[in-house]
Amino acid sequence: MKAKSLKHVMPDAKTENPLDARLRGELDQLRARALYRTRRVIEGAHGVRILVNGRECLNFCSNDYLGLAADPRLAAAAKAALDAGGTGSGAAALISGYNREHQALEEELADFLGRPRALLFSSGWAANLGVIRALAGRRDSVIADELNHASLIDGGRLSGAQYLRANHADLNAWAVALAAADGEQRLAVTDSVFSMDGDIAPLPQLADLCATRAATLMVDDAHGLGVLGPQGEGAVHAAGLGVTEVPVYVATLGKSLGCGGAFVAGSEALIEYLIQRARTWVFSTAPPPAIAAAARRALRIVREEPQHRERLLANVRRFRAGARQLGIPLSDSETPIQPLVLGQEQRALDLSQALFDRGYWVAAIRPPTVPHGTSRLRITFSAAHTAEQIDGLLEGLATGLK
Ligand SMILES: *Cc1c(COP(=O)(O)O)cnc(C)c1O
Repeated sequence: MKAKSLKHVMPDAKTENPLDARLRGELDQLRARALYRTRRVIEGAHGVRILVNGRECLNFCSNDYLGLAADPRLAAAAKAALDAGGTGSGAAALISGYNREHQALEEELADFLGRPRALLFSSGWAANLGVIRALAGRRDSVIADELNHASLIDGGRLSGAQYLRANHADLNAWAVALAAADGEQRLAVTDSVFSMDGDIAPLPQLADLCATRAATLMVDDAHGLGVLGPQGEGAVHAAGLGVTEVPVYVATLGKSLGCGGAFVAGSEALIEYLIQRARTWVFSTAPPPAIAAAARRALRIVREEPQHRERLLANVRRFRAGARQLGIPLSDSETPIQPLVLGQEQRALDLSQALFDRGYWVAAIRPPTVPHGTSRLRITFSAAHTAEQIDGLLEGLATGLK
């Protein structure tokens, strides 16, 4: 009781510690600039119909592209693993945390992608940080697209390597940056599908450039895996590239696979090296085995049930055709990430709120996630959306933009 009442005591300028005083000032500034962020609490499943603050609405901002996050078959696989082996792995994989479920998932991922080996990480963030730091050091160079995911940017910075940024998907800029990179080894890093824009990197051309400059290409396929390619093998496979052209492949299990965690796939030597040197892997507890069991089930669904991917892409086409008819400005994206760029932060927040009031949840994306002046609604689609739901969203957008 006492602790609870203490929490509610209003801060007093005289007694507030210097840290809190500084943080409060910065928080006030974020509020004034429409950059303050808050969370909404979800009750139960993270599907298309989602219970937010006690109210059901339709989710158009998840990365659960195939609708697997709430699929009972994944939950059943996790439950069976929980019953058999409990919750925690208890230690890092190199100590005593490496479970048969982890091993099986790594083998099945490698097999699916046609790569010799895979290594499971607890998150995409951990994978990107760990891999880049392991592969690039002070004497090396990292060349990166300016719109790369924050984890790739941080990985590059933390590595201590010379860091060269190329304008987004600009092959000339990439050529210049690769030529300017004077490190002993050059690691070129790009998202496949850009997470806030939905466009796809020019992977074959980047692979060619890297080959001529003896640079190693690393691709983060977080939004391509399960979505692109004839069987959902992702953007790298869809571009006709293999382990020779793209030696370092990273993808996550928390998006189209509906689970959580991530993995790196590549050669025997790469994976063995990461096992020795990727600090975010070596010094981190192995993921719960049940999550690996669920991801194995998800991977089987991806392989055996192309209808989800087909429905997803049909949903994207329906949205784009409808938006064109209604005069809603579209970007060039053909993927399930469909941004509606609005510019000012407040404009994005207002439209997001207007849609939410109608029962459609589309998050407003603001700096620093996107560059200043490009605040947007990031609309994402799932195989589980119905045609009526998409039409309803289009109507809401058209009304909100008037
Ligand atoms: C989501 C995402 C990550 C981070 O993956 P987590 O598993 O959520 O930590 C990394 N890269 C890209 C491109 C992403 O979209």
